Amino acid sequence: MKHLLIIFCCAASLSAQTFQQYFLDKTLRVDYYHTGTKGTEIFALDKIYDEGIWSGSKTQLVDNLNYGEYMLRVYNVASGIVIYSRGFSTMFNEWHSTDESNAGILKTFHETVRIPFPKATVQLTISRRDKKMIFHELFSTVIDPNDHSVVNIQKRAPQFKSVKLVDNGAPEKKVDLLIIGDGYATADMQKFRDDAKHYSDVLLGTSPFKERKKDFNVWTIEVESKESGIDKPGKNEWKENALGSMYDTFGSARYILTEENRILRDIAGHVPYDAIAILVNDNRYGGGGIYNLYSTCFTQTDYKGMEWQMDYVFVHELGHSFGGLGDEYYTSSVSYTDFYQASVEPWEPNLTAATNKEQLKWKSFVDVSTPIPTPWNKTAYDSLEALRGKLDRLAPDYYSKREPLYQACQSIVKNAEYKGNVGTFEGGGYVSKGIYRPAVDCRMFSLSLVGFDPVCSAAIEKVIDSYVK
Ligand SMILES: [Zn+2]
Repeated sequence: MKHLLIIFCCAASLSAQTFQQYFLDKTLRVDYYHTGTKGTEIFALDKIYDEGIWSGSKTQLVDNLNYGEYMLRVYNVASGIVIYSRGFSTMFNEWHSTDESNAGILKTFHETVRIPFPKATVQLTISRRDKKMIFHELFSTVIDPNDHSVVNIQKRAPQFKSVKLVDNGAPEKKVDLLIIGDGYATADMQKFRDDAKHYSDVLLGTSPFKERKKDFNVWTIEVESKESGIDKPGKNEWKENALGSMYDTFGSARYILTEENRILRDIAGHVPYDAIAILVNDNRYGGGGIYNLYSTCFTQTDYKGMEWQMDYVFVHELGHSFGGLGDEYYTSSVSYTDFYQASVEPWEPNLTAATNKEQLKWKSFVDVSTPIPTPWNKTAYDSLEALRGKLDRLAPDYYSKREPLYQACQSIVKNAEYKGNVGTFEGGGYVSKGIYRPAVDCRMFSLSLVGFDPVCSAAIEKVIDSYVK
């Protein structure tokens, strides 16, 4: 035991030295274009920025989570060693599996990676997983951080007011969550302040965030849009919202993302941040979350008694964007196909293709008495879900028609024989057969205020550790 402790202490101090050896205490932001179509993708450098203090960990420099579709690696050119790495996912990757991409249309997304500011020239590479989850390098560039083309964004005066809403200490030892608003006009700014406080409280009141709330700082930026609300392209409704968030992403009415990455990053860079949550001042159910990018969530509803759904979405989407979790539901209509193959183990910590306990990545959570795969009343659940899937989500009577089906589905998961146990429950990641989730219900499965299952909670805690340790 004593021996182990000594090793741990040495490893920790070595990492701190590594930071000082290779990095200054500020952030290098690298912007690039990510272009492609089915079968091809290329990267092209845009601009590089000097962006203020480094908010990430100074000791967890190399990624040990292995989440995300892509992997950023930074090499010290002189020694050839990896001095920083991080997994992440992209909007491009989701678009890459849509019909538009499959039809051969070329499209470009603007993206950003942020690293501690290197003292000397580095080689930066981006790799992506193949269908078997193996990373292959797609992009490599050499960056001289002392070149005068590096834009000193710290010199720019902030356009909007920022507030440290929750202060638990130095950014390098905390998860710094930035809550930023889109579609809030000047007259809506008090609503933004109230919303930011509310969702910050909701997140830090939900396990496992609740038990780790001292590990979080929360920042807000009071971004003013010219109009209230965001774009709804499917209804031909267009707004002048500052961050460019819109419904109907990839043709899905409730999927909210923004493609205005440069605008978002320029504004966000005025505070030290590790994660971004965008609050959307609009009233259609919706949200989105991409690992290590950002989450979105709606903040108004016209349906009385349905306000809890916004709390559900806010935390669920941070499950994706912060925790690297996959969706555990599978019958709901989504706009991409073949996201998971039943024969390949997904990278998401809460989805598996394993059919025996020995290969199961969360086997340490499984009780000896729990059968693998774990039986649940899937047939009955699926027939109810099929009926629910036929309803028109945008129809005014959607909720009243959905309610009895929803209650019957909830009754199935609440009364499941292995409720409360971790096992492998078939159906997850939009796939009905061959992909399994850890528990019968979880915040990543049913649309309810149910908590994260133990596997998801542990995964989120590992991410928190990667910022605070
Ligand atoms: Zn989701």
